[in-house]
Amino acid sequence: MTNPSLLILAGDGIGPEVMAEVRKVIDWFGAKRDLKFNVSEDLVGGAAYDAHGTPLHDETMARAQNVDAVLLGAVGGPKYDDLDFSVKPERGLLRLRKEMDLFANLRPAQCFDALADFSSLKKEIVSDLDIMIVRELTSGIYFGEPRGIMDDNEGGRVGVNTQRYTTNEIRRVARSAFELARRRGNKVCSMEKANVMESGILWREEVTWVHQNEYPDVELSHMYADAGAMQLCRWPKQFDVIVTDNLFGDLLSDMAAMLTGSLGMLPSASLGAPMENGRPKALYEPVHGSAPDIAGQGKANPCACILSFAMALRYSFDQGPEADRLEAAVEKVLADGVRTADLLQSGTGEPATTSQMGDAVVAALEASL
Ligand code: NAD
Repeated sequence: MTNPSLLILAGDGIGPEVMAEVRKVIDWFGAKRDLKFNVSEDLVGGAAYDAHGTPLHDETMARAQNVDAVLLGAVGGPKYDDLDFSVKPERGLLRLRKEMDLFANLRPAQCFDALADFSSLKKEIVSDLDIMIVRELTSGIYFGEPRGIMDDNEGGRVGVNTQRYTTNEIRRVARSAFELARRRGNKVCSMEKANVMESGILWREEVTWVHQNEYPDVELSHMYADAGAMQLCRWPKQFDVIVTDNLFGDLLSDMAAMLTGSLGMLPSASLGAPMENGRPKALYEPVHGSAPDIAGQGKANPCACILSFAMALRYSFDQGPEADRLEAAVEKVLADGVRTADLLQSGTGEPATTSQMGDAVVAALEASL
């Protein structure tokens, strides 16, 4: 059996700093849990532009298509702000998502008890929260045609975007949500606006079809997306997996993320269709960007990137118990009071550096044996 392969694209700004801590974690799993990966590294974003004049070299794209999972740090930075749109660092990331056809974006909103005070909601509402938002990522209103700004033939202009979903696009993301639910609390809530949008009616019908024909064992409910937003603030723990379209998912996943406090704690996964070996095409990355304001200062919180690797363990490598171990290690570090600056209330102690945080996670892993 060959080891599973992992392509690391650290990117720009704090990307390489947080990724260095993930490497410590990967090395620990190799040494102590006999979980070895064939790790390769390459460039993306501004770093790739500097080296090759493009934010994603064709060879890097080809490598990404041929590995079991890609782990990405972050892209972008002020140095690249004036570049032509076609070579901006973000285009590298968009190309990866598009060509790997990563249609299901998984955004967990998980609130570690030790960080419950960071939420803008009351502690009892968010403490131990653990929900997953599955957002359709490759279709819907951000891609539908016609689009553009045109003359309205009455002397003014009209801005047009089109919400469009096919049966296949809805069914495949619904399947991702039901599969996830089976590994978690076995509940899916589908959100759309079937009351005012035909695409919402089709969404509801197709999700129901997949449920009845393929996943009758999973509990399914439906909610209008606006009501869903209210319920997310009122009592988020009622949800397990939420599945929704690209536009509503964009809003709802950011909102759910903020229930939990800091950007430095939020992982994500983007999954596509299964490959020949049964594993889904997969890209794991922290939600945060390259944070140029703190880059190179040892201030970045590596937890979002470390937790993204935990998602890779669970969803690409079928190592659920080891993913649990890693998440528990992060939780222990926080409970012990080791915090990077973003996780400290002002005037409460000395912040840990990026590297100290990574070391503390590895020490907590070691203590878990
Ligand atoms: P950002 O996420 O980089 O930073 C927002 C704020 O959060 C900053 O104050 C930053 O210091 C802080 N922050 C972010 N991650 C942190 C971490 N791990 N630890 C501690 N603090 C952290 O968003 P931005 O400032 O709007 O964007 C900066 C650059 O990143 C831009 O070029 C943008 O285009 C790019 N960006 C990239 C991605 C990505 O790679 N997926 C996502 C968002 C933004």
